[in-house]
Amino acid sequence: MPVLGIDVGGTQIKAGLVSDSGTVLRAEKVATPGNLDAFVAALQGVSARLLDGVGDLTGVGIGCKGVIHPSDTTVITSPGPIRYLDGHKLSSFFPEGTRVVADNDARVALAGEVVWGAAKGCTDALMLTLGTGVGGGILSDGRILRGATGIAGHLGHYTVERDGQLCICGNRGCIETIFSARSIESDAAAVLHRAAKTSMPPNVTCQQVFEHARAGDLAARMIIDGGISKLAGAVAGLFLMFDPQVMIIGGQIAQAGDQIFVPLREQVYARTRDFLMREIPIVGSQVADSTGVLGAAALLLHQF
Ligand SMILES: [Zn+2]
Repeated sequence: MPVLGIDVGGTQIKAGLVSDSGTVLRAEKVATPGNLDAFVAALQGVSARLLDGVGDLTGVGIGCKGVIHPSDTTVITSPGPIRYLDGHKLSSFFPEGTRVVADNDARVALAGEVVWGAAKGCTDALMLTLGTGVGGGILSDGRILRGATGIAGHLGHYTVERDGQLCICGNRGCIETIFSARSIESDAAAVLHRAAKTSMPPNVTCQQVFEHARAGDLAARMIIDGGISKLAGAVAGLFLMFDPQVMIIGGQIAQAGDQIFVPLREQVYARTRDFLMREIPIVGSQVADSTGVLGAAALLLHQF
């Protein structure tokens, strides 16, 4: 029986009917409503349309921004426009008896990779999603780590600079402050503001910083090279902590490909080879799932 995978984001709700072999049979997306009543109506409408003619709903996997209670699907805290979900159980929006599992979007992405992607068959894997912010997930001994209160695995908030920039989480110098799209763009804006020599245009995007670094712009290269060096230090520490079989790097920034992966692999290997005595693969995500729908379904189909 197919199941529903749903990704709840700040701007869109994306949903799909997913087969147990990981095929999205039908998909739909709607704008995320601005209040709870409209949200519940939108969720139920999408579900009904996807299930039309297929049968009853057997299970739903949900990926949602924020901190989600691992056992009862309560949204403990969700940032920004879907703050109205705080304190609500996502399972309560579906008919009684429906099996509903939910977790944050980064853990859901890891679930997708374990069931169908780069961590298939693995018991131990790490995932970093380098996007606007930096998300993370940890698979250890076959379980996705959630910790005592659901926070575990927020690798984006691993401290890499003791006295670094203030982070959204209240700490300083987190990975997110050195290698998220926002931090790379703010570093580039600082270069421009200082009127330092650069070919980067005003309001430069993260993708453009990578392009200018590739083209040899010194200021852009300093931002990217410095970021990769700090990221490599963090990944090396994580490798020694979790001894994974693979590390998956997803998110929009990972699309820079070899520009990140080649120096990152080199530096992490140099830092860890004596102790690990092997090279742990650092790879891109394989589940081509920009929607988050497949990962959400994987959460339901696999016992984590
Ligand atoms: Zn942080």
